[in-house]
Amino acid sequence: MADGKNNKEVTLAKLTSLSKRRGFVFQSSEIYGGLNGAWDYGPLGIALKNNIQKFWWKEMTQLHDNIVGLDAAILMHPRTWEASGHVEGFNDPMVDCKECNARFRADHIDLSAPCPNCGNKDSFTEPRDFNLMLSTNLGPVRNENSKVYLRPETAQGIFVNFKNVENTSRLKLPFGIAQVGKAFRNEVTTKSFIFRTCEFEQMEMQYFVKPGTDEEWFPYWKEKRMAYYDKLGINNKKLRFHEHGPDELAHYAKGAFDIEYEFPMGWQELEGIHSRTDFDLSRHAEFSGKKKDCTYRDPETNEVFIPYVIETSVGLTRTVLMCLSDAYEEEEIAEGDVRTVLHFHPAIAPLTVAVLPLVKKDGLAELAKEIELELREDFATFYDQSGAIGKRYRRQDEIGTPFCLTVDYDTKEDQTVTLRFRDSMEQVRVPISELSNRIRSEIKNYKREF
Ligand code: ATP
Repeated sequence: MADGKNNKEVTLAKLTSLSKRRGFVFQSSEIYGGLNGAWDYGPLGIALKNNIQKFWWKEMTQLHDNIVGLDAAILMHPRTWEASGHVEGFNDPMVDCKECNARFRADHIDLSAPCPNCGNKDSFTEPRDFNLMLSTNLGPVRNENSKVYLRPETAQGIFVNFKNVENTSRLKLPFGIAQVGKAFRNEVTTKSFIFRTCEFEQMEMQYFVKPGTDEEWFPYWKEKRMAYYDKLGINNKKLRFHEHGPDELAHYAKGAFDIEYEFPMGWQELEGIHSRTDFDLSRHAEFSGKKKDCTYRDPETNEVFIPYVIETSVGLTRTVLMCLSDAYEEEEIAEGDVRTVLHFHPAIAPLTVAVLPLVKKDGLAELAKEIELELREDFATFYDQSGAIGKRYRRQDEIGTPFCLTVDYDTKEDQTVTLRFRDSMEQVRVPISELSNRIRSEIKNYKREF
């Protein structure tokens, strides 16, 4: 449905404009001209982001055996980042155009071609390594000794808490630790709306396994993570795996697959699934001198070893962009009549139910308000009584509200309302007393047609 029926292309410009107009995402500190690589989430954006986070959290912790949560601090002891390899090796190669001063990631452009900004040829500087970590100073004296980093990934907070979690949760291998939080990178280029930003959020899970069994768990997590996107209602034709070749592998990785999504600007990484071996825990054992905190004793064999790790790492803010992009459709419903609709899975839609009195008068507004108050306990609701009913439906379609309830004159007689579905625009009559259960079951059984 989203693809074949019309060719009203999804572009970043359209998503950015809708996001601003309807309150999903605003440019950071816009009144001062904005700040590169930083964005603010408005009332609908924060609701969408929170819902995606909850969806991931439920999938990874509640629905999976032996995975528990953690929320580590953004600021960590600076030795952490020496051990992890980030101080030495977390670099991107950067080139500048000598003609127009535009800056690019050397691995993102063809260095033998003209500059993508000004069109000049042979105008690039030699590639220089550029460390991506942002730093600040802790305490009253600003010098090298007080320097701390804003974490460039959430994973290290998990590794340094491995023993704390194992001890307190009484978990046995294999087990996982999940975390959602902010990460910061001084990205060379921050184009493409919220795709690549300097401040972003990650949802990461480290799965600790017995060495040797990593070969089994790696494909397990690949499959599991791809299946999750199906549950999230994402078009599986727009998702694919990309295996890292030897030259792409990060310093810690034995194997790595990206899940890529076809964003409006092309196929791009959404999530990384990495076989990290015992690299991180070994390095923390070495750099901290606390070997015991980085090892595991098998309760059956008494064997002591450093666990291996399979990691799944996805950007939360990047997922917001994917969901917006995947959900967006300009649908021609009649000759010359196009509606903009966001086909979010109802579990992540910012609003679940809009309650609309057909007209304000004759007690319909009061009745509709009463129904809306009742539904608030269970769902994110919205009450709207202004404008023609068709217009009100369109306003909800554009922000992805899956269900609209219309209260009309019949409601007063027979205690039923019209339930209108966003995707199909179908309408059915439902007794007020059955609304909550009906909506709950519609959410549970939702399947988007593509
Ligand atoms: P890239 O090569 O695109 O810079 P990466 O391979 O360094 O990304 P990872 O370190 O594997 O990315 O991070 C895991 C996930 O975190 C990514 O798949 C992405 O979803 C998200 N992510 C990484 N950097 C950013 C960023 N600057 N802005 C938004 N999300 C990001």
